Amino acid sequence: MFEDKKPHLTPVSQLGEFGLIKHLTQNINLEQESTTLGIGDDAAIIDPKGKKMVVSTDILAEGVHFNLGYAPLKHLGYKAAVVNISDIAAMNAVPTQLLVSIAASNRFPVEAFEELYEGIALACKHYHVDLVGGDTTSSQSGLMMSITAIGLQDEDKIVKRSGAKPNDLLVVTGDLGGAYMGLQILEREHAVYLANPNMQPEMEGYDYILQRQLKPEARTDIRRLFEELDVHPTSMIDISDGLASEILHLSENSQVGFHLYEEKIPMDSEMISTAEEFNFNPVIAALNGGEDYELLFTISPSEYDKIKNHPDFTIIGHAVESNQGNYMVARGSNELIQLTAQGWNAFPEE
Ligand code: ADP
Ligand code: MG
Repeated sequence: MFEDKKPHLTPVSQLGEFGLIKHLTQNINLEQESTTLGIGDDAAIIDPKGKKMVVSTDILAEGVHFNLGYAPLKHLGYKAAVVNISDIAAMNAVPTQLLVSIAASNRFPVEAFEELYEGIALACKHYHVDLVGGDTTSSQSGLMMSITAIGLQDEDKIVKRSGAKPNDLLVVTGDLGGAYMGLQILEREHAVYLANPNMQPEMEGYDYILQRQLKPEARTDIRRLFEELDVHPTSMIDISDGLASEILHLSENSQVGFHLYEEKIPMDSEMISTAEEFNFNPVIAALNGGEDYELLFTISPSEYDKIKNHPDFTIIGHAVESNQGNYMVARGSNELIQLTAQGWNAFPEE
C-alpha cells in the first residue's frame, strides 16, 4: 500500500494541485451526447435535451466506509463510482456524468491518486459515464471522497421510492448477502496478516463474495430489461444498506407495509457456505448486510406473467395496507417476524 513514504513515490507538491488534476484527467474520454463541456472550465455544461436530470451524491471516508489495509485504491475508485451510478439506476435513469471530489493527506503520493483514478476511469468506461468535474484539496488525516452522479430520463419513466400500492409484488434482482460475507473474509484475513505478516491470506474459494465486496456492479442493465419486458415498476430503491432497511424505506415513502418470505430471499451458495463457516445465519447477511447494490422494486400483480421465471428477478413478497406493518414470514413455521432496520448505521454509538 502507500502507507509509507517511499523515495520513488512522487509527492503531490511536486505537481501542485492544478498539475495533479491535469495529470489525472488528461486521458478522459467524453461519450455522452448530453455532455456539452467537461473538465477544465469553472463548471461543466450538461444538455438534458428535454429529459429530467436526476442527481445524487455520496461521501466515502477512510476508516468509516473503507479500509485501505485491504481495499486496493483501484477497487476503491471503481466502487465509489459504482455506488453512485447505482443510485441513478435505482431511479430507472441513464447514468451520464460523474463529479469526483477528493481530500487527501500528504501520505497519499501522486501514484496513489493514479491508482484511484484508474478505478474511477474504468467504471466510467464500463458504464459509459463522463467524468466532468470535481474538486481536489488536502486533508489533515486520511482520504475522503465525494462523488456526484448525474443521470437523465423521461419524466414518466423515472421510478421513485413512493408509488407502491397494496398487493404489488416485491421483487429483487440478483442475490443478496454476498458483499457482507466477502467483507467478513477480508477482515478475517487482514487480522491474520496483522498478527503475522508472513502468513499467506486464504482467499481461495471465496471469489464470488470477494468480488461482490471489492468490485460491485450497478444494475444499469435492469432499466433495459424493463423496457424489453414492458414492465413498469411502481417503486424502486437500490440495496446499499441491506434488504430489511430498504424495504422499510419503500414502506415509508409509499405508505404501505410489506410481507417478505424468508424462503424466497435469493442467496448464492458460496455466500451460504461462508456464513455457515462463520456460524452466521445467511438470512441475516441478506437482510442486514448491505452493499450488494441490487435493485428492489414493486410491480402491479397484473405484470406477474412478464417477470415470473426470469433469471434476473426473484419475487420475495408483496405490499400490504400500511397498518399491517412490515414482516418477514419465517421459513417452515410461517411465524411473522417484524422487520427492523438493522442495516448499516452511518452514526454508530461509541
Ligand atoms: P476551481 O478553483 O474553480 O474550483 P479547480 O481548479 O478546482 O477549479 O478545477 C479545475 C477543473 O478541474 C474543473 O473543471 C474541475 O471540475 C476539475 N477538477 C478539479 N478537481 C477534480 C477532480 N478531483 N476530479 C475531476 N475533476 C476535477
Ligand atoms: Mg476547485
